[in-house]
Amino acid sequence: MAILICGGAGYVGSHMVAELLEQGHETVVVDNLEKGHKAAVGKEARFYQGDLRDSLLMDKVFTENKISSVVNYAAYSLVGESVSEPMKYYENNVVGALSLLKSMLKHDVRNIVFSSTAAVYGEPSAIPITEDSPTLPVNPYGETKLTVEKILKWYEQTYNLSYATLRYFNVAGAHCSGEIGEDHTPETHLIPIILQTAMGKFSSLPLYGNDYDTPDGTCIRDYIHVTDLADAHILALKKLESGSPSLTYNLGSGNGFSNKEIIDTACHVTGRKIPIEQKGRRSGDPAVLIASSEKIKQELGWNPVRTDLETIIDSAWQWHSKYPEGFKNA
Ligand code: UDP
Repeated sequence: MAILICGGAGYVGSHMVAELLEQGHETVVVDNLEKGHKAAVGKEARFYQGDLRDSLLMDKVFTENKISSVVNYAAYSLVGESVSEPMKYYENNVVGALSLLKSMLKHDVRNIVFSSTAAVYGEPSAIPITEDSPTLPVNPYGETKLTVEKILKWYEQTYNLSYATLRYFNVAGAHCSGEIGEDHTPETHLIPIILQTAMGKFSSLPLYGNDYDTPDGTCIRDYIHVTDLADAHILALKKLESGSPSLTYNLGSGNGFSNKEIIDTACHVTGRKIPIEQKGRRSGDPAVLIASSEKIKQELGWNPVRTDLETIIDSAWQWHSKYPEGFKNA
C-alpha cells in the first residue's frame, strides 16, 4: 500500500517524502508545482503534476495506486497575502481539501493527516499553547485551516473518516543530506531571510518590531526542525492506520526564541555579519507563540531530536550555502 502526499514538492511535503522513502514506504506525490519544486521530490516517489481540484486526475491517482492514507500539505500559507486575497485562500485551501476528501471517499480511502497551523489559535490567551486552547484565527490563512479541521470532524462522524490534524509552529531547517531545503518565492520567513542576508543577497534584514512585551522587545517563536516534523507525521499516519480514533496535536519544540536570539545564533553559525534594519511591527504578529507538544510526546512517543537552535539553523545554512539559488540549480 502507498502513502499519497499532496503538496509533496513543497518545503514541508518534500521532507516528508524523503523520510517516507528512507523508511521504505511506497510514496505517491501530487503537486501542481505552483509553489513546489519537482527537484525536491525524491526520485523513487511516483509523481503526478496537477491540482487536488482536478477530480479526473485524482481518480487516476487513486486508481493507479493502492493508497492506504493521504497526507495533505497542499495549501497557500502566507498570512499577509491571505488578508489581501482571502478568496484565493478559500479556493485553494478549503475547496482543494474538499475535493481531495471527495476523491478519497469515492475510492474508499479513509485516513488523512492534515497539515494545520498555530495560526488557528490567533492571539493566545496563555503560553504554552495546548490543543484545547481557544481557536480564534486572526487572518484568513488560519481561518481556512480551521475550516478544514471542522470539515474533517463532521466527515469523521458521517463518513467514518479518520484524521490527524497537526498544528505546526515555526518550521525551519533542512534535510541532513543538504539536498532539499526551504525555497519560497517570495520568501517571508525569518530564518531563510536572515541566511540570505548573511550570504549577501539582501543588504539588510528588516526586523519587525522591537517594542513587544518580551525580554528584548522582539517577538518570540517556537522553532521545530522540518525532519522532526516529518517524523511526527509518520507516527500519526501509523497510529491512524492501526485503527486509532482521530487525533489533534501541536508540533513545536516547547522552547521560545526571540527574533534577536535567532539573529545572534545565525551570526554565530554562519560567521557572517547580518546587518539589521529596524522596522515597525508587522501587522498580525502575536508577541509570543510557544507550543506545548506534550500530548503527541505522551500519546505517540514523538521524540524530536533536532531541537538545538544551532543545529536547526546550521542545517538550513548548509542548504542555502550549497544552493544559493534554491532549486533552480539543484
Ligand atoms: N520577521 C522579521 N523579519 C523578516 C521576517 C520575519 O523580523 O524579514 C519576524 C516576524 O515579524 C516574526 C518572526 O520573525 O516576529 C517570525 O516570522 P515568520 O514569518 O518567520 O514566521 P511566523 O511566526 O509569522 O509564522
